[in-house]
Amino acid sequence: MSFGPASAFFAIAPTPHGGRGVFATQHIPKDTLILTCESPYASVIHRKFRKEVCAWCFAWSLEVARKSWSVSKTNGPNAGVWFCGESCRNAWISTGEGVPEGDDVNHAGVRGILNATLERCLMTMEKDKAKSRTRSGVELGWAAFLLDSKVVPIFPTMLTEFELDTARFVLAGLLKKCTDDFSQKESTGTRRINCTTYPSGDWADVLDLQDNALEHIQAKPYMLASQIRIWVFIRFVVYSILRESKRLSDRTRQLVYLLKKSVDTPLETRALLGREHGNVFGIWDMALEEMNSEMLGWGLYSFGSYFNHDCSPTLRKEHKGRAIEYYAIKDIDTGEELCISYVETDQVVEKRKEALKEWFFDCGCGTCVAELV
Ligand SMILES: [Zn+2]
Ligand SMILES: [Zn+2]
Repeated sequence: MSFGPASAFFAIAPTPHGGRGVFATQHIPKDTLILTCESPYASVIHRKFRKEVCAWCFAWSLEVARKSWSVSKTNGPNAGVWFCGESCRNAWISTGEGVPEGDDVNHAGVRGILNATLERCLMTMEKDKAKSRTRSGVELGWAAFLLDSKVVPIFPTMLTEFELDTARFVLAGLLKKCTDDFSQKESTGTRRINCTTYPSGDWADVLDLQDNALEHIQAKPYMLASQIRIWVFIRFVVYSILRESKRLSDRTRQLVYLLKKSVDTPLETRALLGREHGNVFGIWDMALEEMNSEMLGWGLYSFGSYFNHDCSPTLRKEHKGRAIEYYAIKDIDTGEELCISYVETDQVVEKRKEALKEWFFDCGCGTCVAELV
């Protein structure tokens, strides 16, 4: 059985209390950089911050006393993304997550079309909000849940801000998967890395993460309807693009058809929604996370999610642009588990336990045990 990537510093192995963890395979001196997760598999900047946060390096304009960034995507539809400068925009466009430059089909191009369509759908939905309170609006609302996968999706109901951000995150993830499938990118072999840098990973890495869907819906039953709404909306956005697909180049249309296949059943959307919860890392307004800092969005860094929680962690993480870096907080012995803290560690044990409910476990770490006696 594969246990994710390994490096000179660590290996993934089962933990004594079930599940798996990351363990040091050599002595690691304090302050060693043991891992860099270069880029999220998928990420989203909260819609309300999208003009203020660079879509590539996540820099926040307010930190340099600017109201917003002014560089947006050119060529083709406005992608609803802004950048701190030309170089970030070029990186976002040309990297296209592995699609060769000059190819008319790239991730960024289709992402632009997706985002633009999403915004258009939203505007129409805003206008139709009042109409939805009529009899036919109510009927349409119910019909949305009786969708047959062969039927073109009808208009979904309005989403909350959170659901919209989640929909944008899921679309980013599905598009990444479809782009990889489309360009038939070979698995990058990242599971057996020998260096300390880990790229965004592939779909198999995402599926390898713990699926928290059941626990999430058990704790918050309203999430089920919310997730269904998100899928209906995503499907609607993709079908909206297809309705105008005559204007797309052949290869772009092929990529959008892959996306259509991906959203025709809720399976892949559910796979992302189930793993998003409990596995994503917040994108913050400061490199070092501090109290009162603002969460600007979130990203799924597949490998970062292998680290278990401990209230006295052995690792600290630092955001560097798109990347997250993990450093040893102290000297770590061979065989010791590499852990991060999912919550603020300077809170009392009761507060930490409350905060950790989001991850569906009761912390039994040494620090908690010591504080509770
Ligand atoms: Zn930037
Ligand atoms: Zn603890």
